[in-house]
Amino acid sequence: MERTLIIAKPDAIQRGLVGEIIHRLERKGLKLIGLKMLSLDEPILREHYAEHVEKSFYEGLEKFMKSSPVVVMAWEGFECTNSVRILVGATNPRAAEAGTIRGDFAMGTGRNLIHASDSKASGQREVSLFFTDDELHSYDKSEYNDIYEPHERD
Ligand code: UDP
Ligand code: MG
Repeated sequence: MERTLIIAKPDAIQRGLVGEIIHRLERKGLKLIGLKMLSLDEPILREHYAEHVEKSFYEGLEKFMKSSPVVVMAWEGFECTNSVRILVGATNPRAAEAGTIRGDFAMGTGRNLIHASDSKASGQREVSLFFTDDELHSYDKSEYNDIYEPHERD
């Protein structure tokens, strides 16, 4: 099943919004398969944000992401990456739709609360960057019968 990486960024920790983020993803029907709190350092941030390292905002982004611990999570679900991006909302929270996490709780692009993988391939890459195999849990979620049709559960 498809996997996606979520990071509750330092502003989510400071503002007490980690529970709200988890709550929204749980209610959607996604399966939490890994979760931990950690402090990010330059090497992992440069790898995670490889596509942005040369951009003008990167230095500020790295400094911000190191400003307090973060909570990283791996979630699983049928076509979950796209569903999660919809729940998260646009990168600029002032343009994000109401009802999304960024649209409801944030104002600044550099303080947009949450990272979410942007494709199935980056989800795979990012989950394995932040989690070892034994930190990822495989289990049956009984409510799957009420969330998916059989062909979506494979
Ligand atoms: N970012 C920023 N300024 C910008 C563009 C991006 O600070 O002008 C930060 C912001 O925190 C964003 C992250 O860099 O979430 C990664 O940017 P991306 O375009 O990948 O947005 P996302 O995938 O997080 O929506
Ligand atoms: Mg991105």
